[in-house]
Amino acid sequence: MAVVALGDGRYDVVVRGGAAYTVALDAGTCTCPDHAYRGRRCKHLRRVAIDVTAGRVPAPGERDAACADCGAPTFADADAPDPVYCDDCTPDPGAVVRDRERGDVLVVVETLSARARDVAVGDHTVATHPTNDGYDPADAVVEALYPRRNSTPTPEPERLRERGVRTYAFPRGRLERLG
Ligand SMILES: [Zn+2]
Ligand SMILES: [Zn+2]
Repeated sequence: MAVVALGDGRYDVVVRGGAAYTVALDAGTCTCPDHAYRGRRCKHLRRVAIDVTAGRVPAPGERDAACADCGAPTFADADAPDPVYCDDCTPDPGAVVRDRERGDVLVVVETLSARARDVAVGDHTVATHPTNDGYDPADAVVEALYPRRNSTPTPEPERLRERGVRTYAFPRGRLERLG
């Protein structure tokens, strides 16, 4: 059986011979005769639940997407616009990145779900800031800071922010992962 996500928590389960039954996961329904006439929790419902749990198809509320950096298939919130990034390409707090524009090495504090066009920086947004010209206004925003020169070991970003160390907001695409 092959499971195909249709969106809105509905899935087609294609069985041998090419017939397809449609499962509505949240409602717990299936269009197969077994379910329709006897109201049983049929094998198609079970199969969709197994595939969702295993991460093979998007869960209700998620959609298929391609990572904007590495191109790997991933899942995104159903209402999250592109670009989206896979977990590997979402820099974790403490990750070391390079600014593609200036070559500076920075430490990531947080990757926000907010988009560049929605995050204010002074009189601008991250998207309209002159230094970010050419980057996608819908890109995710990454907060990062400049580590102190000669500081060892790698600073803990959260603690530095609590201490009032200034952070800077970048469109995700401007930062290159290092290591
Ligand atoms: Zn069924
Ligand atoms: Zn990726």
